[in-house]
Amino acid sequence: MKDLKCGLKSCRYNKGYSCCSDEISVDSGTDCRTFSPDPNKRGNLFEAGEEFVPADYSVDTAVACTAECVFNKQEKCVANGITVMSEGEQDAVCLTFMRR
Ligand code: SF4
Repeated sequence: MKDLKCGLKSCRYNKGYSCCSDEISVDSGTDCRTFSPDPNKRGNLFEAGEEFVPADYSVDTAVACTAECVFNKQEKCVANGITVMSEGEQDAVCLTFMRR
């Protein structure tokens, strides 16, 4: 999956709100388990440069998932794209989840 949008800019795999990890894992509660804060990004949060990192949708990320979702086929996500977000300091959650 190349269209993997993610709002967690502090994650080491996030490039311009796109996920560039080779693989991610989403759990049964739809939380992204691959989220990994990058200590080097924290200090840059308020620098203009960080805001304008271009999105990189070239990485074909494999999404393993155990949520009871219509896009879950044998523990793999088959959606064309997903969006991951977090509210405040809470976990990263898959917003594309649709209960089956
Ligand atoms: S869309 Fe559904 S199957 Fe795909 S990662 Fe999100 S919760 Fe899992």
